[in-house]
Amino acid sequence: MALETTLILFKPDAVAKSLVGTVLARFEKAGFKIRGMKMLFLTDELLADHYSHIADKPFFPSVREFMQETPVIALALEGDDVIAKVRDLLGPTDSKAAAPGTIRGDFGDKEGDAKMRNVCHASDSTEAAEAELKRFFKDGEVF
Ligand code: ADP
Repeated sequence: MALETTLILFKPDAVAKSLVGTVLARFEKAGFKIRGMKMLFLTDELLADHYSHIADKPFFPSVREFMQETPVIALALEGDDVIAKVRDLLGPTDSKAAAPGTIRGDFGDKEGDAKMRNVCHASDSTEAAEAELKRFFKDGEVF
């Protein structure tokens, strides 16, 4: 077991549907601790950095538009093996393929944009978590 911190973004679908508290409660019930939290608008520059691994995909412009529909909420969440465990709580990228009981299965879009409107981003590795926490939180903003 490793004590880790992961970076979560509540995406615009979660913000617009007032799902932030419900999803945050799942993270807290799982025993994870909030270490930092803020609301921010994702600029083109931030999005290009954050989604550099999908920047050449045909769906990237739609993802950028979606991620700018509202400000997002960034969360630094700490716990034992939190990186993998939060990915399990979320379920797969495609909300239609996500099992009931997972966050994406329960709250993600089940219609046309199921692969995009999937409630939350969460870091997928220790390297990604380190880079993403630095991207969204300044020194002193993670407690
Ligand atoms: P994850 O967020 O599950 O780690 P990826 O890093 O592969 O998934 O993709 C980043 C985000 O881009 C996804 O969360 C989703 O919002 C969007 N996305 C991924 N694949 C598609 C797709 N085929 N069509 C539309 N949007 C997608």
